[in-house]
Amino acid sequence: MPFVDDAFVAVALGANRPSVAGSPRQTLLAVRPELEAEFVCWEKADLCFRWSAVHDTAAVGGPPDQPRYCNAVLLVEGVSAPPAESAALDLLDRLQRLEYRYGRDRSKEQRWGPRALDLDLLFWGELRMDHSRLVLPHPRLHLRTFVVEPLLQVLVEQRCASNPSS
Ligand code: ATP
Ligand code: CA
Ligand code: CA
Repeated sequence: MPFVDDAFVAVALGANRPSVAGSPRQTLLAVRPELEAEFVCWEKADLCFRWSAVHDTAAVGGPPDQPRYCNAVLLVEGVSAPPAESAALDLLDRLQRLEYRYGRDRSKEQRWGPRALDLDLLFWGELRMDHSRLVLPHPRLHLRTFVVEPLLQVLVEQRCASNPSS
């Protein structure tokens, strides 16, 4: 992704069981202002938020016969802080608190099983890290059509907005 500079952060959203906000689709829409508010709190700068459409996708991996997923991607532009591990871990904490508020409880889950809300950090510019709690870029990003499709959508929109004549 050579055109993604350090001012960009991307988050993948997924849900396939109801939450306090309702259905998975309602969850992915309801969480938008809260996720944006977390970024504003985290970065304290003017940010631009680009949201993909909510995609309805088949479950991949995990236990058999789980419900279909809703997936989306958020691209955040305008991050002025240089990418750094401690700040990325702070962001992960914020994402996990938000998951918890929507009913996520990893202690009761199967690996890749149904969840009320999943928020994965996909990348922060070119930052590479391999911490026990956070790997960046997300190591399975490129393997997942349900992430790559909405990500391409927001990246193309960002390119068009930056270069209106191209
Ligand atoms: P996957 O990472 O394959 O999408 P998952 O989202 O189902 O799996 P979780 O149970 O939500 O996995 O998270 C397990 C742990 O993954 C989290 O507690 C977190 O510390 C860690 N983790 C490592 N890298 C990332 C990342 N890039 N984004 C979010 N969590 C991450
Ligand atoms: Ca995930
Ligand atoms: Ca996750």
